[in-house]
Amino acid sequence: MAATLEAQVIAAFGHHVLVRAAGGVIREARPRGRQLDIVCGDRVLCEHDTRHDETHVVEVLPRRGTLYRTDSRGRTEPVVANISLLVAVVAPEPPPDLFVIDRYLAAAASSAISAVVLLNKADLAGRTELRNALEPYAQAGYPLLECRRDRPGSVAGLAAALRGQTGVLVGQSGVGKSSLVSTLLPGVQIATNSLTRDREGRHTTTASRLYDLPGGGALIDSPGVRDFAPAIDALEPRSLGFVEIDRLALGCRFLDCRHLREPGCAVIAATESGVLDARRYESYRRLRRLFEDLAAARPR
Ligand code: GDP
Ligand code: ZN
Repeated sequence: MAATLEAQVIAAFGHHVLVRAAGGVIREARPRGRQLDIVCGDRVLCEHDTRHDETHVVEVLPRRGTLYRTDSRGRTEPVVANISLLVAVVAPEPPPDLFVIDRYLAAAASSAISAVVLLNKADLAGRTELRNALEPYAQAGYPLLECRRDRPGSVAGLAAALRGQTGVLVGQSGVGKSSLVSTLLPGVQIATNSLTRDREGRHTTTASRLYDLPGGGALIDSPGVRDFAPAIDALEPRSLGFVEIDRLALGCRFLDCRHLREPGCAVIAATESGVLDARRYESYRRLRRLFEDLAAARPR
């Protein structure tokens, strides 16, 4: 006997997922068929085989607000699904790589996911310098938040931004994402640790995990990355998801301007006059070059 149920993926591991059905029952499930790409946040249809007590994911329901990345073989791969807010976390330690932040923000904007930039570990010495480096994000329209563990009240801004949203915390490894989750949800780690062994009893590493927030909404903690390459075909073609470039591009002479060396380019003019931040423009150019190299390498 197999019963079909609709559920949400609340944790994704290497070869299995945890799904939660209506009523809150949590089960371990495996994809039926290797080609099913299932990520945290996905809504899925499962079949539960009562005789063998096994659950299989048979279908991934249509997604919205999905973050896509390019995998090591250049293919598009979902990272998390059905999110409405991306929280890009950066800290004075480890040394910040703002190119990683730019790429996450580009992927979010291209998928119509709202985003905020969070300066974490604001108690550390490099805080002021980092805050200055983040000013172009504020200029572009991204809300800037600040948190520090020694002042628990500082997490209130993040909690307010997440209310009623499904948020994802992204950023380099070590910026304090897990610490933020435990501040927002005290005690939650203990409740979930028992589930990090699979059916065969092997320890598995969590790819990402969804937590319900007390004020409504949910939070997904995505693993740290050294680099993040957005999926090229999921990026907005005119600006690659750089929101201030998207606005400036309205003034370019050519509709298909790539803002590299085209005549009458409003983006280049804005960079030269200092209206557009030079580092953000350079970051855009690096992503554009990657975009064009990958497009050229694609089989036709
Ligand atoms: P993750 O890899 O992004 O999940 O980062 P973690 O939450 O594991 O934190 C990495 C390190 O930063 C740990 O040693 C934490 O104790 C430390 N950390 C977290 N939050 C803060 C903070 O607000 N201030 C300082 N100084 N250290 C912090
Ligand atoms: Zn242009």
